Amino acid sequence: MQTIQDILQSLQQTHPNQPQFHQAVADVYQAVMPFVKRHEAYQQQALLERLLVPDRIIEFRVTWQDGDGQVHVNRGWRVQHNNALGAYKGGLRFHPSVDLDTFKFLAFEQTFKNALTGLPMGGGKGGSDFDPKGKSAADVQRFCQAFMLKLSNYIGPEQDVPAGDIGVGAREIGYLFGAYKNISGQFNGVLTGKAPASGGSCGRTEATGYGTVYFLQHMLEQHDQSLADKRCVVSGAGNVAIYTVEKLLEKNAQVLTLSDSGGTLLAKSGLTAAHLATIKQVKEVERGRLKAVAEAHDDLQFRADEKPWAVACDVAIPAATQNEMDETDAQTLHDNGVQFIAEAANMPLTAKATDYLLEQGVVIGPSKAVNAGGVAVSGLERTQNALMQSWPAEQVDRKLQDIMAHIHRSCVIHGEQEDGRVDYIRGANIAGFVKVADAMLFQGLG
Ligand code: GLU
Repeated sequence: MQTIQDILQSLQQTHPNQPQFHQAVADVYQAVMPFVKRHEAYQQQALLERLLVPDRIIEFRVTWQDGDGQVHVNRGWRVQHNNALGAYKGGLRFHPSVDLDTFKFLAFEQTFKNALTGLPMGGGKGGSDFDPKGKSAADVQRFCQAFMLKLSNYIGPEQDVPAGDIGVGAREIGYLFGAYKNISGQFNGVLTGKAPASGGSCGRTEATGYGTVYFLQHMLEQHDQSLADKRCVVSGAGNVAIYTVEKLLEKNAQVLTLSDSGGTLLAKSGLTAAHLATIKQVKEVERGRLKAVAEAHDDLQFRADEKPWAVACDVAIPAATQNEMDETDAQTLHDNGVQFIAEAANMPLTAKATDYLLEQGVVIGPSKAVNAGGVAVSGLERTQNALMQSWPAEQVDRKLQDIMAHIHRSCVIHGEQEDGRVDYIRGANIAGFVKVADAMLFQGLG
């Protein structure tokens, strides 16, 4: 059997420019290797080797014309990683920094995350290097239409069901869905994250953030602690961060920060419902910056160009983007008292930051478990679409709570240590891997 070093070395040789993909693979394979070694069939059927290669990668050009008549060229991708458990499922990201490496790492992660939800979903991810920032709604619509023209052939309710991610919210899903409907003549569940009046699920917007807090509550209870009065620092200011904060406030936790690329918003005595209302107005309605939130409230500060990790806390919730927390940030956080980390963004810690914090005894909830509530409610949206039903918000939220409790239990089953503490990284990776691997074994070579 190949060692983890052999696998990573050959990956390095075949795909030298995909460091994020290597990082995601190393994280999963380090956790599952001892498990795979004990299971002859997994080795004999080359499951680790097979999972390294996505089922299919679609790469395309998106040509679109802005309102001034200027023609632009962007690149688009869809990585369909694995459909052993169901149709490919995963978000679309529009951000100028993305490349194939980004989508390979995200699609790989998505496969195991989706498996953890217990819902029948495979893993995929895609998007474009288009930058929606500063663009008019009409230009965003034009881009979405051009993007869907190229993607529509490769997706479908039983084939591949995209949703949102960074840069793709309800507005973009609306434009993409409208474009798909025009191209195909079909009104179906090809995308999730739709507005409820267009077949979307209640609670999808809130799901990733709410699910993060439900998972965090279980993590704390497992370690004989509770969320009330915990000092929480949160990074990011997008959909995930905002609804994480909303649920934290509901649970009487103290939320000290949010952040965006301009810096950190600091609430020394904790964010309030009034602050959150301004945050939603500025970020969701005006599409503005956090600095404007600080300007609207005397009891808030804005620390330009700073990350939130230097603020004393019990819990840290990175909810911005991958590798946002490096080893130096991790040291700062640890010096400031952090005990628990819930990864709300996908892979927000560098490998070195993770290793350092684990050595210090910090409990880390990994993204594929913590933030799975978003895709879980996407799964519920698919069910509602297939049944032509629309469930009330309370029903969706109850199911979300059950799913997060189930994911937490799976992590404990595979990650509990002798001292009663839980290695959530190991637990989540093994639990997700087993589901995918067993389905692949059942279905034969492919
Ligand atoms: N982009 C989200 C994620 O990272 C949601 C995907 C979905 O709803 O399909 O899980």
